[in-house]
Amino acid sequence: MERRREVYFVDGLPQIGTRYYGIVDQGTNVVEVRPTSLCPLNCVFCSVAAGPLEPRRWADFVVRRDALVEALKAVVKYKGGGVEVHIDGMGEPAVYNELVDLVQDMKSIRGVSVVSMQSRMFTLTERKIEELAEAGLDRINLSLDAVEPSLAAKLANASYYDPRRAMALAEYAVGNTSMDVLVSPVWLPGVNDDQIPKIVSWARAAGLGKRWPPVLIQKYVPHKRGRHPKGVRAVDWGVFWARIKAWEAQLGIRLDWRGENPFGVERRPALPKTVKAGQRIKVRIVGRGIFRNEYLAVPNKLADDPLTDRAVTVVSERPLRPGAEAIVRVVEDEDNIIIAKTEVVFL
Ligand code: SF4
Repeated sequence: MERRREVYFVDGLPQIGTRYYGIVDQGTNVVEVRPTSLCPLNCVFCSVAAGPLEPRRWADFVVRRDALVEALKAVVKYKGGGVEVHIDGMGEPAVYNELVDLVQDMKSIRGVSVVSMQSRMFTLTERKIEELAEAGLDRINLSLDAVEPSLAAKLANASYYDPRRAMALAEYAVGNTSMDVLVSPVWLPGVNDDQIPKIVSWARAAGLGKRWPPVLIQKYVPHKRGRHPKGVRAVDWGVFWARIKAWEAQLGIRLDWRGENPFGVERRPALPKTVKAGQRIKVRIVGRGIFRNEYLAVPNKLADDPLTDRAVTVVSERPLRPGAEAIVRVVEDEDNIIIAKTEVVFL
């Protein structure tokens, strides 16, 4: 099996339509921006199976900043004011080489009120954190699932990952900049149960949550494309919330934010569905998709409008070469993520 992975620098392609990069809208005032799918870790529970050791991935994506910002301007205008831009994606966004400029560009878009980012922070530096704060980054959602270094490195499947570095940087950010940090550990039942109270106690002592809740514990949910650690059982929501309540009582800190809206999430019109499930369209293959047997494609007819043009993920057992044209049937269009299967390929 060919194990080499390709990295694509995306420019001149639609920024909406794929999970790999670009913009994802779920019909609210929070717009997700995905600058890269690269990640230096290999977390054993990663829901998007990122990292250098994953054999199922055969491509990664990095987006040209200008293209992303131009498309985002159109999306923010469509959404109206009070938009939070959340930098996330199928990788670690902090490794994006133009991150500071990206934050600055996004924060200066009229209608963007908050810029936030999901990150493990360990690739950042104090200087970079200062630059990000100055550029307008309001909050980092820190992914941290263990404070004990050997367990954290084991969960990240990377000996070079040290949670103490991330924690020190988070403390620096809340203590020395205007930025806030919240920590969002994934509770892996039977694996990091004893780590969660330690993370919560650290967050409180470190002063996380200056403007938002300091801790948001995530439920481990196995994903079809994700990695599934051995020995971890996914609990149902009833068990999950009972555990959260027990930790709340034990630690004397609020962990259950149901019924409130601390992030100010509001329903907003979803972006128009210009490509719909059931439709047959003619596309041109651009290159590989992230996972084997997936390809990135664009429809032959584009309007040159970032709001209506869509990228398409084509699933095909048969190898497709870049430049090939195909008639595909769209099988999924949820949240404008367009997945299609090949019907006829013109080589
Ligand atoms: S969970 Fe995050 S940091 Fe870990 S491998 Fe996945 S994308 Fe990378």
